[in-house]
Amino acid sequence: MDRIDPNKIKKENCEKKDRYETYDEANAVRVHLGYTLSIYKCDVCGGYHFSKRLI
Ligand SMILES: [Zn+2]
Repeated sequence: MDRIDPNKIKKENCEKKDRYETYDEANAVRVHLGYTLSIYKCDVCGGYHFSKRLI
């Protein structure tokens, strides 16, 4: 059985998600769209993404 590599999951999530250069930019989009998602800094790309459930 393969182990799930958290770094691989992170990278895949990073590639799937919209990326924002700054927290403020992500937050502006979130407010505009009325999202209630949280925003986190991505250590894969150094940008920001909306946080969604991983599983
Ligand atoms: Zn990323």
